[in-house]
Amino acid sequence: DVSHGTILYLEDVTVSFGGFRALNKLSLTVDAGELRCVIGPNGAGKTTMMDVITGKTSPDAGKVYLGQSIDLTRLNEPQIAQTGIGRKFQKPTVFEQHPVWENLELAMKADKRWWASLRARLDRAAQARIEHTLEVIRLESEARRLAGELSHGQKQRLEIGMLLMQQPALLLLDEPAAGMTDDETMELAVLLNRLRGTCSMMVVEHDMEFVAALAGETGRVTVMAEGRVLAEGSLDHVKRDEAVIESYLGR
Ligand code: ADP
Repeated sequence: DVSHGTILYLEDVTVSFGGFRALNKLSLTVDAGELRCVIGPNGAGKTTMMDVITGKTSPDAGKVYLGQSIDLTRLNEPQIAQTGIGRKFQKPTVFEQHPVWENLELAMKADKRWWASLRARLDRAAQARIEHTLEVIRLESEARRLAGELSHGQKQRLEIGMLLMQQPALLLLDEPAAGMTDDETMELAVLLNRLRGTCSMMVVEHDMEFVAALAGETGRVTVMAEGRVLAEGSLDHVKRDEAVIESYLGR
């Protein structure tokens, strides 16, 4: 269980593209072990925020910390990946020509800490870890199929499994439910809920039913608009917020 302290800390983060401020003094904190949903209208800056956290975009100003001590603004993109921040983009990226289990094995080998610590007794320990992840992502019965043969929802779960094989400190998920059927969406919500407490996650999402399934009654939801946080709290709380209602309905 990792649920103590702060895993992600953003303070007054500003990003300008030309004269336009995509992020405008964005401040936000995610607790270790938390499953945080981030919503907001198009252009709110959600993708730019993810880009700043992963080092794809450098902020003009502000603080970005992983945990208490890792200043992410001083690291480049590959260095940030090594700190244990895993990002999942909207579309699934799996090795289609390889079986499901081999996708997990290949992902595990990208985790240098694990790889270095094992070597000799790799086979059995690796096998156990792959089997555990297959169970978490509910693809046990698909393990020997080619990843390319999976449904869209199964591919999305496999890619999350591949990220989990790297023992991430923080997972960033960009609209993971996009293009899924209702059943696949709910299955994904169950999966992410099971990870709560063992892995810190930030999920950017448009599908409000999915957000409701992730946040439950008490989970914190962050609403972004115009490059900053507009409101934060339970889904019920932010839905009643005047500024939120305005930003969604337009002025
Ligand atoms: P969201 O993910 O919430 O829809 P984005 O972070 O993608 O929002 O975009 C925020 C704003 O910044 C948008 O108005 C977008 O057009 C602008 N923007 C994003 N990236 C760039 C870029 N590389 N150059 C110029 N403008 C950009």
